[in-house]
This record gives sequence, structure tokens and C-alpha cells, in this order.
Amino acid sequence: MSGKKEVLPFFEFVAPGVMELHPYEPGMPVEELQRRLGVSNAIKLASNENPLGPSPKVKAALAAASEGNLALYPDDGGFRLKARLAALHGVGPESITLCNGSNTLLDLVARVFLGPGRAAMYSKYAFAVYPLVTLAQSAESIVVPALPDDSAMPYGDDVEAMARMLRPDVAVIFIASPNNPTGTWVEPAAFERFMAQVPAHTVVVLDEAYHHFQDPATRIDSDALMRRYPNLMITRTFSKVHGIAALRIGYGVAHPQLTDLLHRVRQPFNNGSLALLAAELALEDTAHVARCVELNAQERKRVTAALQGMGLRVLPTQANFVTVDFGKPSAPIHQALLEQGVIVRPMGSYLLPNFLRVSIGTEAENDRFLAALKKAVQA
Ligand SMILES: *Cc1c(COP(=O)(O)O)cnc(C)c1O
Repeated sequence: MSGKKEVLPFFEFVAPGVMELHPYEPGMPVEELQRRLGVSNAIKLASNENPLGPSPKVKAALAAASEGNLALYPDDGGFRLKARLAALHGVGPESITLCNGSNTLLDLVARVFLGPGRAAMYSKYAFAVYPLVTLAQSAESIVVPALPDDSAMPYGDDVEAMARMLRPDVAVIFIASPNNPTGTWVEPAAFERFMAQVPAHTVVVLDEAYHHFQDPATRIDSDALMRRYPNLMITRTFSKVHGIAALRIGYGVAHPQLTDLLHRVRQPFNNGSLALLAAELALEDTAHVARCVELNAQERKRVTAALQGMGLRVLPTQANFVTVDFGKPSAPIHQALLEQGVIVRPMGSYLLPNFLRVSIGTEAENDRFLAALKKAVQA
């Protein structure tokens, strides 16, 4: 085809927000790099996955379960997993929403609360899924300026600015702590002050995808706050520390009335039985979780020091990745890393074109990244 693309007649009825949407840009899969550049042996440090993978107990149970009856629908209520999660968070199962990935949960919140004439609020460098689910509902986005470059938490969420910018039509506020793509976090005391200022009709979604990787001293006491504020919802995922991103499962914890609303719009059987089983066993293997957290803490420190030794700035991080400032457009460095079989995440779509986000891998993967980066910056 040549010239301007013809717009087909059904575009007349496309929701206005969807017209402005651009699909989410995921980290490049290893296979794609092999197809594109013919590079074999590539490593992916681009989607904050767990380099150690899931607990061995999860793998064994999945192998056994694949011999089971795959013709039957899964347990729609997720009874056993919900019971475990409820105990973990000190709530009843009526406070738990299971979802195939916590991103889907963000979408449920948007579908319940957002629409034309209502607004969602989030920070300028917030997770890309927040604008996505907001636009999908044709709601307005209030993008709050982030903390300044020269602050203690550069590019992080500025909850004081958020409180100042509140309006009566703000239905949902999305905050990730630690945040992706910056790694920055919201200090617990600042978050508590913030919650006290948010009106009771505004739902605050606290996205804790990276909760386990945080130094406990920097963690928000979200369970206690959630009991105090019925408009506070916590989301967590099994894609990061639990190492089962492939299975797509996450969950939310919230007041039963908020949970009930989400259950009205979720699809029946929205979690596969293998995902439910794997999540249950992943929660049980706390020793594996501790190993993953320990490896991440050690390697994050080592990688950060090596990058700083190269004269690069690393944003403060409590997550399983580092966000690196090259002080000039990072695209050539990204390309040079790809050519050496190292996939990291470019930050142009996040309006941070001088940065790259690099997930913490195994010791060997991190060494390979650092060696490739040295070559890339010399070139
Ligand atoms: C990775 C991530 C998620 C988790 O997504 P899933 O859909 O559960 O895989 C959620 N929020 C943030 C900020 C993330 O970085």
C-alpha cells in the first residue's frame, strides 16, 4: 500500500481516548533479537524478571499438574490462593481480587471508576500502564510533575504536589512504590500524610510490584493503612520476586466493597489453574523468596558501584533494576548493547531519552552487561 492509510468507517465509533492510545512497548524478547540481528546467546535485562526463576517446588508442581485434567475450568473463586493471601495481609478473602497479572487489576479499577468527565492522577514518570488504562476509558489524566532532578529522589513521585493538585473529579490516583521505571520510592511518612489529605471518594492504588526488594525501613505499612482507609487498594504481582511472569498472575487487597466492584467487571475464570497453583506454592517457599531478595540486594549494590565507577549517575532504587543516566541520548548505547546480545530497556517512551533501565540479573549476566557497556561507551 502507498500514501496515506485509509481510515475505515468503524473509526467513527472508536472511543476518543483509544484514538490517542499507543500500545505498550514491552522489553524485547530474546528470540526477537536473535531474529533481528542474528545474535545468539542473548540475555534479557529489560523487563525486571527474576533471574533465578520460580521456586523449584513450583516447577515440580507444574510438571505434575500438566498431567491433570486440563479440560476443566479453573476454580473461579481461587479459594486456596485467596485464603493464603488473606492470611498474609490480615484481611478476609472478600478483600482479595485475583487477576491474570496485576496490570489487569489496574484495568479493572479504571473500568469501574474512570470515564469521560472523570480524571486519574499519576506522576510524570509513572508506570506506562496507568496512562494506558486511563485513556482506554477516555478519562482525563492529571500528570503531576515529578521531584526535581537535583532532589534526593530525582524523578520520583511528589506526593505533596499530588495533594495540591487534587480536584473533585479525581476518581483514581496511581502510585507505584518503588516506582517503575525510576526505582524511586515514596517515604512511608510522606505517604501517610498524603492519604490523610485524599478525599474518601478518591481511590488510591498503591502498586507494590517491587515490595519484596525494598529495604523494610522504606516500606509503606500498606496493610495497616488499607484498614484505616477504605479507598486505599494495594496491588502485588507474582511476576517479579516470585518469578512466574510467564503465568500471568497478580492480586489486589482492598476493602470488601471495593473488591466487590472489581469482581463485577472481571472476567469469569480470569486465572488459569496452573497459575493459581504456582502462585500458592510460590508464596509458601519463603526461603526461595529470601534468596532472590538477597541476590538482588548484593548485585544491585555491585552493579550500581560499577556504573558509578564509570562516571554514570544511577537513580536511587529499591527495586530489582537500576535506571542509568548517560547525560546524552542513550539510543546509540542501547543499540551497541543489543549488538552484543544484551537487551536492556530504552526510556524514550518514558520521556527519559538519556536513560536506560537495566534489570538486575545473575552475577554472570550482570558481568556480561557491564563488560558490554564498557565497550559501548568507548565506541
Ligand atoms: C512489573 C510491574 C507490574 C506487574 O505486572 P504484571 O501484570 O503483574 O506482570 C505492575 N506494576 C509495576 C509498576 C510493574 O513494574
